Amino acid sequence: MMNNIDTYDFTGKKVLIRVDFNVPLNEQYEITDDTRIRAAIPTIQKIREKGGAVILMSHLGRPKNGPEEKFSLKHLIPDLNKKLGTEVRFADDCIGEQAREKAAVLQPGEVLLLENLRFYKEETKGDEAFAKKLAGLADVYVNDAFGTAHRAHASTAIIARFFPKAKMFGYIMENELKNIDKVIKEGEKPITAVLGGAKVSGKIEIINNLLDKVDNIIIGGGMMFTFIKALGGEVGNSLVEDDLLETAKEAMAKAEETGVDFYLPTDAVIADKFDNNANRKFCNAHEIPDGWMGLDIGPESGQAFKDIIESSSTILWNGPMGVFEMENFASGTCEVANAIAEATANGAFSLIGGGDSVAAINKYKLADKVSYVSTGGGAMLEYIEGKTLPGVAAILS
Ligand code: AMP
Repeated sequence: MMNNIDTYDFTGKKVLIRVDFNVPLNEQYEITDDTRIRAAIPTIQKIREKGGAVILMSHLGRPKNGPEEKFSLKHLIPDLNKKLGTEVRFADDCIGEQAREKAAVLQPGEVLLLENLRFYKEETKGDEAFAKKLAGLADVYVNDAFGTAHRAHASTAIIARFFPKAKMFGYIMENELKNIDKVIKEGEKPITAVLGGAKVSGKIEIINNLLDKVDNIIIGGGMMFTFIKALGGEVGNSLVEDDLLETAKEAMAKAEETGVDFYLPTDAVIADKFDNNANRKFCNAHEIPDGWMGLDIGPESGQAFKDIIESSSTILWNGPMGVFEMENFASGTCEVANAIAEATANGAFSLIGGGDSVAAINKYKLADKVSYVSTGGGAMLEYIEGKTLPGVAAILS
C-alpha cells in the first residue's frame, strides 16, 4: 500500500517536503506571481495539523555558482508567514550544521525553510551524498513539486531512496497525476486533443503518444504550417520547420491508420509582418501568398474546432491557436478557450496545460470554468508524452 498524506501518521515526525517555490521576484525581491506557493499550502497545512514538523526545500531560479542574493528563498518568508499563519524559521544553508540544528529543535506544527537547493550544483546533478545529507534532516519525505518531477535531481528523486517506507506524494503531485490520467488513461470518449503553440518540434512526441489514445487531434498555432506544407500547401512566410516535414507526414499517416481524425485549419488570419498593427486579412490556410504569414486560425476553422470541442467528452488543450499575445491575432485562441469552457459546463472533462494555454485561459478569465489547469509545464508534457517521470517513479518504486 502506498503512503498518502491523509492516512499517514505524522505525529512527532520531521517531514521534509520538496515544494516548488520557484516564483518570479521583482527587483525589490517581491513575489509577482504566488500561484506556486498558494498551491503548496494545503499539503503543508495538512501535515502541520496532523502533528508533523515541516521542513521545506525548494529551488528558486537558476543560480550559476553558489549563493546569490537574488535567488535566496529568504525573500519568501514574509509571504509564507502570512499564508501559513506562523513564523517560518529559516536555515541559510540547506545542508550543514545550522540546518541540522534548526531541524533537530523543530517542534510539531512548526515550519523550517531551507535555503535554495540549487546553491549546490549537486542538486541538479542528482548527487547521492548531497541527497543523503538532506534526508538526514527528517523522518518522512513528501514530494509536492510536480514542476520538477521530470528531473532526476537530488531532492526530487534520489533522496527518496533514503525513505523506503516513509515517502509519499503531496496533494499537488497527486492531483496533477490523477487529472492527467483522466485524459490519457481513463478518458471518456470522444477524446479531443487541441494542440497549438509555435513549433512542431516541441509537440511531436505528444502527438505521437496521443495517436493511440484520442479520437480527434486539432492542430493550430505556428505548428500548423509545417503540417500544411507537408500536405503540399502554400504557407508564404509563415513559421515552418522544413526539417520536420517528413515527421509531420508520418504523424498524419499514423493518424489515418489508427483512425484518429486529424484536423488542420482551413483558413487563417494572415499578416504582412509580425506585428499587431500589420495589414491583415483572412485567407485559405493552404494558399498563403509570399510576403504574408499566418498568425491565427481563421473564423471558419474557429467554428469547426468549436463544434468538435463541444461534442467531446474529454478535452486536452496545450498551446495557443495563434499569436494571442497580440490582440489582433487572439481570436482563435479565445474561441477555443470559450468552447472548452462551454463543453465543460455541459459535462465534459477538460485539462489545460502548458505555459501559454494556461496564460490564455487566465487572460480570458476561464480558469474556473475548466476542469483542471495543470501547473506542471515540462513535467506535464513529458507525462503526456508517455515518459516515466523520475520524481514519480522514485515514490512509486
Ligand atoms: P509554445 O511555447 O510552443 O506552446 O508556443 C507558444 C507561442 O507560440 C506563443 O508565444 C505564440 O505567440 C506562438 N504562436 C502561436 N501561433 C503562432 C504563429 N502562427 N506564428 C508564430 N508564432 C505563433
